Amino acid sequence: MIAYLELERFNIQENDSSESRPDDDDHHVDKNQLLPVIGLLQSLDLQGSIDYSTLAADFTGKDFGGVYSSNPLALIRPSGADDVARVLKSACRSSNLTVAARGNGHSINGQAMADGGIVLDMRSTEGNHFKILRINGGDHTAYADVSGGALWEDILMRCVSEYGLAPRSWTDYLRLTVGGTLSNAGVSGQAFRYGPQSSNVTELDVVTGKGDFLTCSPTHNSDLFFGALGGLGQFGVITRARIPLEPAPDMVRWIRMVYAEFEDFSRDAEWLVTQPEKESFDYVEGFAFVNSDSPADGWPSVPLYPNHMMEPTTPIHSGHQLLYCLELALHFNHSNSSSTVDSVVKRLIGGLRYMKGFKYEVDLSYVEFVMRVKRVEEDARAHGMWDAPHPWLNLFVSKADIAEFDRLIFKGLLHDGVGGPMLVYPLLRSKWDSRSSVVLPEGEDEIFYIVALLRSNPPYPKGPSVDKLVSQNDKIIQSCIQHGLGFKLYLPHYQSQHDWRRHFGDQWSKFVQLKLAFDPMAVLAPGQKIFTRTTKNSNMLHLSPQ
Ligand code: FAD
Repeated sequence: MIAYLELERFNIQENDSSESRPDDDDHHVDKNQLLPVIGLLQSLDLQGSIDYSTLAADFTGKDFGGVYSSNPLALIRPSGADDVARVLKSACRSSNLTVAARGNGHSINGQAMADGGIVLDMRSTEGNHFKILRINGGDHTAYADVSGGALWEDILMRCVSEYGLAPRSWTDYLRLTVGGTLSNAGVSGQAFRYGPQSSNVTELDVVTGKGDFLTCSPTHNSDLFFGALGGLGQFGVITRARIPLEPAPDMVRWIRMVYAEFEDFSRDAEWLVTQPEKESFDYVEGFAFVNSDSPADGWPSVPLYPNHMMEPTTPIHSGHQLLYCLELALHFNHSNSSSTVDSVVKRLIGGLRYMKGFKYEVDLSYVEFVMRVKRVEEDARAHGMWDAPHPWLNLFVSKADIAEFDRLIFKGLLHDGVGGPMLVYPLLRSKWDSRSSVVLPEGEDEIFYIVALLRSNPPYPKGPSVDKLVSQNDKIIQSCIQHGLGFKLYLPHYQSQHDWRRHFGDQWSKFVQLKLAFDPMAVLAPGQKIFTRTTKNSNMLHLSPQ
């Protein structure tokens, strides 16, 4: 009876078309597909809830990117790993069901979607597991056990306010889930010192694509542990992670300095990230911006606070269309006098080649600093921009080619900006565990760069169309390929087998082996479009179509 009531809320179609565009209101579901799924899920006796309504499809059929949409058959809010295991076991036994774990849906290209499949809303498990462990009783060997569905923002608040502790490696924005960022990497300005979030986890609970629950670590089920880190959700659903903590500082000095030349900017940034730990900043990032008064990506995007007094906020007549900004942060405690902090900063930036007079700084609490992008979100929401499409592009670029990338892409294709931040800053290869599934640019160079084109335009027709921006992203990728630049997509998305193979390079065969071991039916994370679901009677693992 429940199933039929729910069915009435769908726009049921007799044919098998399930394609829709992000702006379609209707969710077309094939009755022949849905009825057996309802039967199957009702028989599982899950502790969590199941939703087949259009509301569920509306929620899980879209993501932050707003480029793709899908029509899932069901949304499950699991109560924990047991529910996840039941769903995956039965999906394996079905003829064609796929399952996507959804963190907070902040992917750009449909990576957490399951068209015609089941979506697990991992946020329903966010309250599970929170526990602090102190090995030998010390704060320097403390860990937090957190749910795969926990938001980093909640982890920050609980760890700092209740224990005075904090994880070491963050993302810029914190309303992302632990499982979502660990399945990619999780990068911010602390990564040069500690590595990405995927290098800052010591144990995972994972439910594999076969429905098996396994605890894994660098020494126990290590194939699954390293496979799942950066594994794009392909091998299992992360239901718990153990994150190292350190004492949280009280305060942060946050600094921005403007550069006219990319060469000076990159030389200083590289120098800073290669200094010994005690002799550098705690956070190093940077971005390119347009020498204009554009609020989104010109001079007004440089101030650290909305009311920060800063001169100039208007273009400078330097003949440069693009400028660069180094962003730094130094941790300190209430017990440190401001003159001590001043002198440390003075010593660290003394030799840097920024444009004198173009340095801005502010002191704020550590929590305010780590949460700084929340203000951006609030502002974007107030202007109706947060729910607009975001065709973002993220890349890792080799150090050898970053100057050419600047010339061809920043100064060439993007000289007018992207309507939002264009992050560019160096990272250190040795801080990334080469046993994980994350793919970095080839080569031996210790330094490589992250580039993030965080477009934030008003929706079409006020802003450019999504198609135009997606095609500009394609042009950037093609240009990098044509000019032989060493790069890999971060948060990769490809449609063809050829592209996925090229992305993974010599890591491809290992990735396929892990898939065969942990999700041989290719049930998991279909939105990544790497493998297609294997039919019950076939033992072959299928790649996505050419
Ligand atoms: P989702 O988008 O829901 O899922 C991403 C992928 O992970 C999907 O394939 C999904 O199936 C899989 N997945 C989700 N949960 C699990 C789980 N528990 N177990 C296994 N697989 C799972 N990234 C950075 O590195 N640094 C940043 O500073 C940064 N800032 C961002 C700011 C914004 C505003 C946005 C929108 C994104 C940002 N990102 C950043 C990118 C972000 O890390 C990825 O998009 C991440 O995947 C989003 O996390 P999510 O929890 O929403 O995951």
